[in-house]
Amino acid sequence: MNCTRCQTNMHKNGTRDGKQRWKCGSCGYEKQESKRVSNSPIIIDSGNVLVLSDLHLPFEHRNALSFVCKVRDKYKCDVIIGIGDFFDFHAINFHEHNPDGYSSGQELDEATIKVQKWIKEFPSIYQIEGNHGALPFRRAKSHGLSRRLMRSYNEVFGLPDEWIWSDWYEKDGVRYEHGDGRRGKYAYVNWAADNMQSTVTGHSHSTAGISYRASNKQLYFGMGVGCLIDRHSYAMEYGKKNARKPILSCGVVLDNGRLPILETMYIF
Ligand SMILES: [Zn+2]
Ligand SMILES: [Zn+2]
Repeated sequence: MNCTRCQTNMHKNGTRDGKQRWKCGSCGYEKQESKRVSNSPIIIDSGNVLVLSDLHLPFEHRNALSFVCKVRDKYKCDVIIGIGDFFDFHAINFHEHNPDGYSSGQELDEATIKVQKWIKEFPSIYQIEGNHGALPFRRAKSHGLSRRLMRSYNEVFGLPDEWIWSDWYEKDGVRYEHGDGRRGKYAYVNWAADNMQSTVTGHSHSTAGISYRASNKQLYFGMGVGCLIDRHSYAMEYGKKNARKPILSCGVVLDNGRLPILETMYIF
């Protein structure tokens, strides 16, 4: 394994919690075996939640980071959940690519540079993969390659071990998932209805909101958190003629899962 800081070969340095640790003999950087995406639910304990909407690095909105930092500070959020599609991987998607855009390698370089600022502000994030985020693994699968042959996001982008990845999370009875697999303006509340529990989703860039459903016994909300993309970037060209433009926003969940809040950014 190469050091993510100086690219020197790292040596094994014992284990912790059953995970192999590595140390760089050159710069001293230490890291632990990265967690891969798991299908098992991860239950998060306490704290106010900030939900990062789809960012699609390196094609995120120029004010995305400062905006979410302000929201985090305003509501004193100490649990950060990335709702998916943190990375875009435009160059390897299954649709048309812009021939004048970055190559796959250039896009990785660009995203690796940009993610450093996010690591600084958010040293730990519960990340969900998303359909765009999963593109390297979807590509590999389409060519018959096992996921075990692939490097983790943490290795590729030099992310801290505290950025963990799962398909979904649950906190205070609220479910957090990307939301691919459903379309339409009521998608976010339909997720909640079908899950029969309050649910927060991303994925649909041009819908955002909070809506409630109730049964005889319980009340639950669905919140769609919009996105924080740069809609003028070439990677987002496909949405150029859509009547509905992306809604730039992020979510907050307070009061032990009872109070969802959508914060919108009034800059385009
Ligand atoms: Zn997205
Ligand atoms: Zn998506």
